[in-house]
Amino acid sequence: RGDTPEPPAGKPRLTVLSGPSGVGKSTVVAHLRKAHPEVWLSVSATTRRPRPGEKHGVQYFFTGDDEFDKLVANGDLLEWAEFAGNRYGTPRGAVLEHLERGEPVLLEIDLQGARLVRQAMPSARLVFLAPPSWEELVRRLTGRGTEPPEVIERRLAVARTELAAEGEFDTTLVNTSVEDVSAELLALMQIA
Ligand code: 5GP
Repeated sequence: RGDTPEPPAGKPRLTVLSGPSGVGKSTVVAHLRKAHPEVWLSVSATTRRPRPGEKHGVQYFFTGDDEFDKLVANGDLLEWAEFAGNRYGTPRGAVLEHLERGEPVLLEIDLQGARLVRQAMPSARLVFLAPPSWEELVRRLTGRGTEPPEVIERRLAVARTELAAEGEFDTTLVNTSVEDVSAELLALMQIA
């Protein structure tokens, strides 16, 4: 979609952190925001059920299918995608408001979403978080222990194809350590 205005010159670009499921995107983002709470992280809407400990409005806005349909129909989402049987989307209004205020804005979304953001907002900075190795990604996806085996299998299959998309991104960061990657991401966002 080409109907989203570009941020005015001199204002921060939208930064999109993407990469295969289980690569450690959320851990990196949590670490980064502990030190830099001024980085505004978009809270997505999802039809996925909450995991233990997840709270509505914090990790996600948990919606029913009908509510998500409405968000899509109203054009309220900057992008949305289906991932492993659930839908996930970025509320458009809040992202634009924070960018307009000149705040650094970060999205942590899947690869399909990153591609859609690129179309909607060509100035967005797309960052690919890569695992140190395939074995490490399998270990992390299996080790989370929150998903049944068939869900893990599905996510691994998706991750295998997602690793091939690295070249579409502006930058690749290899997740060797959470500290290093969040420092690199802050540097990309031109935050000290
Ligand atoms: P999880 O269910 O593990 O929280 O998330 C599954 C995947 O959906 C992750 O790769 C996560 O980055 C992605 N995701 C979360 N929010 C969004 C969103 O708003 N849009 C898109 N396209 N993907 C999202």
